[in-house]
Amino acid sequence: MQANRCEMINHHPCLSREAAHKYGRIHLPVAPRCNIKCKYCLRKFDCANESKPGISSMVLKPDEAMDRLRWYLERTDFIKVAAVAGPGEPLTNQQTFSLMKMIKEEFPELILCLSTNGLLLPDRMPDIITLGVNTLTVTLNAVNPEIGAKIYSYINYNGKTYYGIDAAKILLENQLAGIEEAVKAGIIVKINTIFIPEINGDHLIDIANYIKKLDIYLMNLMPLIPQSDFAIFRAPRQEELNNVRMKLRDIIPQMVHCKQCRADSCGKVIDGHSKTCL
Ligand code: SF4
Ligand code: SF4
Repeated sequence: MQANRCEMINHHPCLSREAAHKYGRIHLPVAPRCNIKCKYCLRKFDCANESKPGISSMVLKPDEAMDRLRWYLERTDFIKVAAVAGPGEPLTNQQTFSLMKMIKEEFPELILCLSTNGLLLPDRMPDIITLGVNTLTVTLNAVNPEIGAKIYSYINYNGKTYYGIDAAKILLENQLAGIEEAVKAGIIVKINTIFIPEINGDHLIDIANYIKKLDIYLMNLMPLIPQSDFAIFRAPRQEELNNVRMKLRDIIPQMVHCKQCRADSCGKVIDGHSKTCL
């Protein structure tokens, strides 16, 4: 188990900076819908020169995504991770699970990776475990619902829409329960936190301390891209980001090579992260 874990980390370009120079990941954009609204999220525009989370030139069906995956694997030898990271929320789109199953059957050697906002993690954990998902990224922007309520407009959960503090409480509860289950199941978990200086800037230490207790492998502090409702807020300055990362790394290891990739990226993270067109 431990050897597999180390091997996975050493081959996953997001979990290891050394691996990022040698190995690549492919994001297969099969998940169009989302079940929450983060106030910094904007997925309306696509520019081939732009790399940011949630952007994809197109949404693929699972069999089209398999064609794309085969195409890359036939032509490269460095793709080690197959992931679904959007353009919406992977766990609320059944296509994610159909695709993961197909990949596991045809390419069992690939590391299966999912990104999620965590709302459906407890509900979908049995499927995640059965499918053999190896690594998981959960975006966790607050461990205090009062701060969460400033970041999320609403959530849709079990057929109902929740707003404000009610939404933030349910989301946080599910994120934490799901993360705990995933870690217990042996899945390697990375936490992404959007650094929004004016909203959660003073709360980042609390998040790091909290997730340290959950046995999280790595924390990835991502600078806010000011857009959508959060266009009024500033992005952190590079120096500010570096300083916070320095403080947080005393608590939990920090990812420092993230490129804030598109939902249809393919390739090595460090030697070129933008989409390579088919
Ligand atoms: Fe956008 Fe992802 Fe937030 Fe959904 S969970 S609103 S896709 S950033
Ligand atoms: Fe890795 Fe960051 Fe790109 Fe996600 S956004 S695939 S963590 S480099």
